[in-house]
Amino acid sequence: MRTHRRSTPDTGSPQEEPLSIRRTLATLWPYLTEFPGRVVLAMALLVGAKLAGVWLPQLLKHLVNTLSVRGAAGAVVAVPLGLLLAYGLVRFLNVLFGDLRDVVFGKVANRAQRRAAQRVFEHLHSLDLDFHLSRRTGGLARDIERGVEGINFLLRFSLFNIVPTLLEIALVAAILWKQYDIRFAALALVAVLVYVGFSVWVTEWRTVYVREANNTDAKANTRAVDSLLNYETVKYFGNERWEAQRYEDSMIAWEDASTRNRLSLSSLNTGQSLIVAAAITAMMWLAAQDVTQGRMNVGDFVAVNAYMVQLFVPLNFLGFVYREIRRALIDMQKMFGLLGQRSRVQDAPGAQAIAAQRARVSFDHVSFGYTPARRILEQVSFDIPEGKKLAVVGASGAGKSTLARLLFRFYDPDSGHIRINGRDLREVGQDSVRALIGVVPQDTVLFNDTIEYNIAYGRPGASRAEVERAARHAHLDRFIAQLPEGYATMVGERGLKVSGGEKQRIAIARALLKDPPILILDEATSSLDSAAEQAILGALREATERRTTLVIAHRLSTITDADEILVLDRGRVVERGTHFELLARDGAYARLWAHQREQAQEEAAPAEPVPLA
Ligand code: ATP
Repeated sequence: MRTHRRSTPDTGSPQEEPLSIRRTLATLWPYLTEFPGRVVLAMALLVGAKLAGVWLPQLLKHLVNTLSVRGAAGAVVAVPLGLLLAYGLVRFLNVLFGDLRDVVFGKVANRAQRRAAQRVFEHLHSLDLDFHLSRRTGGLARDIERGVEGINFLLRFSLFNIVPTLLEIALVAAILWKQYDIRFAALALVAVLVYVGFSVWVTEWRTVYVREANNTDAKANTRAVDSLLNYETVKYFGNERWEAQRYEDSMIAWEDASTRNRLSLSSLNTGQSLIVAAAITAMMWLAAQDVTQGRMNVGDFVAVNAYMVQLFVPLNFLGFVYREIRRALIDMQKMFGLLGQRSRVQDAPGAQAIAAQRARVSFDHVSFGYTPARRILEQVSFDIPEGKKLAVVGASGAGKSTLARLLFRFYDPDSGHIRINGRDLREVGQDSVRALIGVVPQDTVLFNDTIEYNIAYGRPGASRAEVERAARHAHLDRFIAQLPEGYATMVGERGLKVSGGEKQRIAIARALLKDPPILILDEATSSLDSAAEQAILGALREATERRTTLVIAHRLSTITDADEILVLDRGRVVERGTHFELLARDGAYARLWAHQREQAQEEAAPAEPVPLA
């Protein structure tokens, strides 16, 4: 079945709604509760690290004061070894607690990432075909990747940057107030508020520049990738200069945007530094006054300075953290928003599985359109009794593959019923329906893995002997024998390293391995040349003998043995019967047959000898 990929941008289908921030965080919460012990321990380590940090200026103060005390001879009395060691130890503990917290919490964050990614991945496979056709797969993969990274960032930074920084500010303000007086605490708080306000404001302002730099970067990248992917086309038309120019244009845009971005960043940094310098100077001016008036000693002066420096170090990251947290939230909203998508093909409540060794298929007045505006099938009815073969022929776009997609339940019909063994597909589990059907699609896409893997995909867990048997039935064995690496040959991205015909034979082998009671062959031999087609038709005939088969074909010579042939024209069945009945009727089928016969004879006729001069 050819899938019609529409190139809509990867912003999602219209029904997609981003989650609110509260819902996003609520969705994330259960993932965090998997290791409650670790979360509590990480919090304790965090508090430990901050307490150790707050102790450092105190120790520094005592050190300075001890060193300032001089004996009679004017020299320092003794080296305050205990204080020095304590200072070193507390500094080490500060870092150690931080690292331990990272180790303890890392697992929580990684597990949350893993579970969320897995859930979204599984959900994506449960969504309907239409959802996937209207999204760019690359875009989806990027949404997951970014969402997962967002979880990591949010957990690490909101929990371990914003929260501890607030804790630290509160602790430092309390100490300044308690040890000195309220002016110090107030000054510190005002400085922090001004700093935060400024950072948030400037970060908002420069968002456009950051976005512009990122967008131009992504655009240049896309152009480069697209151009390199089209390497052959570029060569066919000798357009290397043109491509280079297009790439250069986008790189010029990137360069300009990056310069503006850097300028805006440096205004942020300069403003922040100015606020920090002004705050520290004001604080030290207050402290210096107190020292000269005897209310403070030199140790206090040093400690006040150390507190301020310590306060502003984590704040330095604030602009970055603020911006990234916003981005992380948006990415997570997008990723979790995918979980809110519902498949249009849903199992009915209590739907039971259908299992069968043999199957009877019936379409009963089925009408269907991918969109309400355009009907593709109109009142199509047919029966395929157990083990019989029904072929569908008709012009391109008549709706042949659509029949197959409906039978596979990629979509539900707008009206009418599709039944297997008398049971309406809507009433049974869709997985069980798909388990009954083997498909050889029009365009086979392979996994970028070995030939063996790709064949065995038909039934994971199949033995090597079974894979080889399927390959033999699909006439692949001789081709594989020629390959230096045999079954272990990699087929390349989307299977591009094997020819169209070989790919199709792999698809046939895969379907044979699945061994289903129903087979759908959607132009299964269209990529094969006549000789290969004849060879494989024999194998397919064998394979379809016991199975209920729906064949879609362009070349009528491949379906003359069908038990019934439907001629489809713009979604309607215009003729039906066996090959000979249809020929006798002398209608659309007979005309098509005559036309194809003529063509075949022309191709087979020897070319006119060219007279030698
Ligand atoms: P061909 O022989 O060329 O494969 P077909 O008879 O198998 O043609 P279908 O693939 O069934 O044709 O498509 C029938 C019509 O439905 C086509 O006009 C096609 O453009 C349209 N169509 C197919 N898939 C979609 C889709 N997902 N969304 C919208 N329209 C679609």
